[in-house]
Amino acid sequence: MTTIFSKIINKEIKADIVYEDSESIAFVDINGQAPVHILIIPKREISSLNTIKESDKELLGHLLFVANKIAKKFNISESGYRIVCNCNDDGGQSVYHLHFHLLGGRKLSWPPG
Ligand code: AMP
Repeated sequence: MTTIFSKIINKEIKADIVYEDSESIAFVDINGQAPVHILIIPKREISSLNTIKESDKELLGHLLFVANKIAKKFNISESGYRIVCNCNDDGGQSVYHLHFHLLGGRKLSWPPG
């Protein structure tokens, strides 16, 4: 399913892109919930964590590796951060293009709401 994130990948709409490579792109969340709130997404159209295939395993690892790099770039690796992947309705997913939220720059509470 094509979503607004495909338009960001294709540069049809603007986003504050902080990282890009052949497999992935990362940009600032438009509705930031923390001082650092970046979305890391695959360029491949995958609707959610529910629909991943065996062949996506390497890509998923790559996205987490990208998250690690971005955390360093934004100086939150030592202070700490959280990776969130909302899945489907109860998980709070609103955009059906797989994405990891990278949140940091403040103390994050637990449990999440
Ligand atoms: P989720 O609710 O987990 O599906 O997360 C989707 C996220 O995408 C939300 O945090 C939104 O604020 C964010 N978002 C939606 N549209 C845009 C956009 N055009 N640019 C940046 N972030 C967006």
